[in-house]
Amino acid sequence: MNKNNNTPSGDGGKLKIAIQKSGRLHDDSIKLLKECGIDISNGVNKLKSEASNFPLEVYFLRDDDIPQYVEDAVADLGFVGENVVYEKEKQVEVVEKLGFGKCRLSIAVRRGEEYDKISSLQGKKIATSYPVLVKKFLDENNITAEIHEISGSVEIAPGIGLADAICDLVSSGSTLFMNGLKETETILNSQAVLIKNKNLDGEKQNLLNKLLFRIQSVKKAKNNKYVLLNAPNDNLKQIISLLPGMKSPTVLPLAEEGWSSVHSVISENEFWDIIEKLKAAGAQGILVVPIEKMII
Ligand code: ATP
Ligand code: ZN
Repeated sequence: MNKNNNTPSGDGGKLKIAIQKSGRLHDDSIKLLKECGIDISNGVNKLKSEASNFPLEVYFLRDDDIPQYVEDAVADLGFVGENVVYEKEKQVEVVEKLGFGKCRLSIAVRRGEEYDKISSLQGKKIATSYPVLVKKFLDENNITAEIHEISGSVEIAPGIGLADAICDLVSSGSTLFMNGLKETETILNSQAVLIKNKNLDGEKQNLLNKLLFRIQSVKKAKNNKYVLLNAPNDNLKQIISLLPGMKSPTVLPLAEEGWSSVHSVISENEFWDIIEKLKAAGAQGILVVPIEKMII
């Protein structure tokens, strides 16, 4: 299927996106498409599904296979972890970080073991499912170590004498802890990303731009909150200076004289900081509302 020239495959100009069939990225991938207003039926054991209200076909695949399918133009797009994209080294383009599936690829050693810096790994045996990324990390740090590639249950390797250290994905760290390991180095911070085939035709690129616009609106909305508050007019100037707003805050008079209602948008990062300052400046009745979509 167009492995060599990546030309459109008579699919009526529909975009084809590959997402994980089941596993940690599946639910959030479907959720993101839904939040972008794209309805897909998600039957169990289905290989493929079609959106009813967007020219999009969804392929359900193992995450490890997604970069290859996108490189080969079997799928135009994919949602997949950065860890997989960079390990597989396929010719695909990362278009957008998606904000879910966050984890890190880390080195861990037995809890009792002495470890002060990267050179502690010199001459050691490291078990991992990520040989490419581990090799890169070791080379960059001038460490020679033996990489032992295994495909699953990496965290038990030190306990059964298979390796001195491991390199695996970590989110909370509880799996490492339960296996008597401690995390010593992070070699990659990862999250799910949107990847695309490098040779999309104009029509598909237009559809991708549409999808991307929706994804970015959903992401922006998640990173921001709508805030409504009552402000004494005497402090209005100071309160407004604390609020960025999309252009500038909306200010409406309250029925009670001397007070105004102020509406604005605050980013999640600076949220608590700004709320504290608003309270200190005399703001009252502060309401914080989630935003569903944000179009700038
Ligand atoms: P598949 O059957 O599709 O090959 P898998 O078992 O390889 O699935 P999952 O465990 O479902 O994969 O993880 C999929 C992705 O989720 C990982 O590649 C990574 O990007 C992300 N992820 C987020 N947190 C974690 C975590 N704590 N452990 C493993 N993966 C995580
Ligand atoms: Zn996998």
